[in-house]
Parts: sequence; structure tokens; C-alpha cells
Amino acid sequence: MFQGVDLFQLSDWFTEEERMVRDSVRHYVQQSYLPIVSQYHRKGLFPKEVIPQLGEMGLLGVTIPEKYGGPELTYTIYGLAMQELERGDSGLRSFASVQGSLVMYPIFTYGSEAQKNEYLPKLASGELIGCYGLTEPDYGSNPGGMRTKAVKTDGGWLLNGSKMWITNGSIADVAVIWAKTDEGVSGFIVDTDSKGFTAKAIEGKYSLRASDTGEMSFDDVFVPEENRLPLAKGLKAPLSCLSEARYGIAWGAIGSAMACYDESLNYAQTRIQFDKPIGAFQLVQQKLVEMVNEITKGQMLNYRLGRMKDDGKARHYHISLAKRNNVDAALTIARQARSILAASGITNEYQTIRHMLNLESVYTYEGTHDIHTLIIGNHITGLNAVQ
Ligand SMILES: Cc1cc2nc3c(=O)[nH]c(=O)nc-3n(C[C@H](O)[C@H](O)[C@H](O)COP(=O)(O)OP(=O)(O)OC[C@H]3O[C@@H](n4cnc5c(N)ncnc54)[C@H](O)[C@@H]3O)c2cc1C
Repeated sequence: MFQGVDLFQLSDWFTEEERMVRDSVRHYVQQSYLPIVSQYHRKGLFPKEVIPQLGEMGLLGVTIPEKYGGPELTYTIYGLAMQELERGDSGLRSFASVQGSLVMYPIFTYGSEAQKNEYLPKLASGELIGCYGLTEPDYGSNPGGMRTKAVKTDGGWLLNGSKMWITNGSIADVAVIWAKTDEGVSGFIVDTDSKGFTAKAIEGKYSLRASDTGEMSFDDVFVPEENRLPLAKGLKAPLSCLSEARYGIAWGAIGSAMACYDESLNYAQTRIQFDKPIGAFQLVQQKLVEMVNEITKGQMLNYRLGRMKDDGKARHYHISLAKRNNVDAALTIARQARSILAASGITNEYQTIRHMLNLESVYTYEGTHDIHTLIIGNHITGLNAVQ
């Protein structure tokens, strides 16, 4: 079985429980996910068959309390699980991130007791698929400009507008939709079967092909009052969910990088040119060393971030720094790995190019690389350069 690069023996720092979850997710990805991902990637579909398996392993809403159907584990465990899922594919990790951090987290944090009891156990088991709609066709990095509106009506709200680039958008049963109201931005749990709700998958993606990305529109969709998230007040509510998901991405990206490193190392040790393995050439070694160097730094960063998150000390700029660094490093590593695989590296016989293309989305979503630069810049200078 794939062991994963751990040059600085970070395993020694993890608890037995943390290692156990990491290894069991690693085993699952190796045994059950990797054999099927290529065919789904080719078809451009998310493998829905994995959803109940993720639920059974407690990977949907990892930190959610047991009384709501979650396994109530730590953020470090959540991070390790995301690392291992993304070693399979960024689409697999994206599914778990969205369900856990962008759908269950807002219901848990901003929802009523009735909403938590109604939705969380079914989302945790995978019986319900969730999605999170913040981005709109004209408002990506600037979600505060959103046009989607909810207007008060008898017994609830009328929702009008559209959302774009929504992970799980065309397969979701429930959507957490953020809309402007007279009281500012509010969150709504919307049944995707509601009258006036339409969603379709975005076609033609080169990246995250084994993940569903949809666009949706709302035409006078009635949302009952009991489906409004009562404690979500203003834009900081959806932004807090993004912080949760970005945390998982920081770990996940390193998983993706580990997969590319592993594949290219193996190739470098076995591919013969000029009568020796290509790994014997200094230039190839340099690439491998740069890869393991950056992976090690990313792992260290994640370890510290995980402990800070578990201690309640991780702030949004810590998470931005880890997401920014690790995704950028993973993308560079994937490209280096692809260059070692050379011609073989452009085919689906190897997984590196799938990771490389996926990481282009990961670089953009949940706050682009540039936006994270500005978030960190704002923190260290006290000056806002985003707007
Ligand atoms: C595969 C995929 C899945 C996604 N899933 C979801 C989801 O589930 N839910 C959801 O709500 N959204 C989702 N998104 C949307 C994603 O979060 C947005 O794409 C992202 O926020 C960027 O928005 P944009 O693409 O509109 O780019 P824009 O905001 O138009 O940015 C274009 C370029 O301008 C730069 N830029 C913008 N503003 C500034 C600034 N102030 N200073 C400097 N540079 C700036 C950006 O960095 C970028 O390089 C997903 C996207 C993808 C690709």
C-alpha cells in the first residue's frame, strides 16, 4: 500500500487515533476509489456510489457532534482525512468539504435545533446531498455584491436570482443559499425540488471532472420561514463557512501533491534512459527534492494549523496562508511530476495530470490565490487592498 511521504516523521507527532483515521482513509482511497476514478473523470461525473461509503466512514461532517449524527472528531483528524481523500482526487475531497464545511457547518452553527435534528444526521450519512451557493455569475471574489434576493412573504420568503460554479449543484437534495434580504445577507436551506428551482451541470470542464459543478436559478422559489438559518446575520456568516472549507483544502492540496510525488518518484526509479534510471540524473533528482521539500513544509504548516484549530487559536489569516501556500506548492509539484513522467504523463494511465488539472480549480475556488494574498496583506499591514 501507498505509504505517503513523511520525511520528517510527522507521524510521530500524531496520536494513535489520528494515525488510525489517516491510514483507514488512505486504505479506502487506495482500494475503493482509485480503481474507479479514471472512468468517472472520463465521463465527467461524480461517482455517487462513494457517498454512503464516505458517510459510513464518518467523513461527512467530521467534527459534528454525535447527537447530530457526526463522529465528533478533532480538526486535526478532519485535516488528515481531507489529505487522504485528495490523494485520490480533489473532487472527492471537494465533495466531503462541501457537505461537511459548507452545508453541515452552517446548519450546525447558525441553524435552529429543529434544523439540526432534521438535516444533520441525513447529511452525515450521505442520505442527503448538500451544496452551498454563494458565488454568482457576476460576483465571485466579491460575494457582497450578490444579486440573489429573498423577500418576505406569508409564512416564508420568495427567492429570486442565480448561483454559478456550485459544487454538487446539479446533484444536491438541499442547497444552503445565501441571499440579500432587507436585513442584510441571510442563509436559507432550500429543497432543490422546490417549484421555481432549476439546476444543471456545467459542461466542458477540463478540471475537477470527477466532481459535479452546477449552475442554478431561482424563480420565485418559496422558502418556509423555518428554513431560514436564524443565527446567520450578514456576510460574515458565509465567510466563516469558507474558513472551515479552506482549512480542509490546505490539508487536501498536500495529499494531491503527495500522490504526484509518489507517482513520479516511482517512475524516476524505473524508467530507463541512457542505460540508467532517470532518477539517477541530477536534474531529475533536483525536481524530486524540490517536491519533497515543499511537501514537508506544507505538512508542517498543516500540523501546526491543525493544533491551533483544535485549540481555538486558528484565525482566518492563518488558514489563508496555509491554503495559499499549499495549493500553490501542490500545483508546482504536480507540474514537476508531470514533466518527469514526460509523454506518459499526459495520459490517464497516470494520475498526475488529473491532479494537476484539478489543482487549477483549487487554486481559484474558496478565495483565489490572489485574494488570499490580500487577506494576509491586510492582516500584516492593517491596510485593506481588496477593495
Ligand atoms: C470547480 C469549482 C467549484 C466551485 N464550487 C463553489 C461552490 O460550491 N460554491 C460557491 O459559492 N462557489 C464555488 N466556486 C466559485 C469560486 O469560489 C469562485 O470561482 C472564486 O471565488 C473566484 O471567483 P470568479 O471565478 O468569479 O473570479 P473573479 O472574482 O472574477 O476573479 C478573476 C480574477 O481577478 C482577480 N481579482 C478579483 N478581485 C480582485 C482584487 N480585489 N484584487 C486583486 N485581484 C482580484 C482574481 O484573483 C482572479 O484572478 C467554485 C469554482 C470552481 C472553479
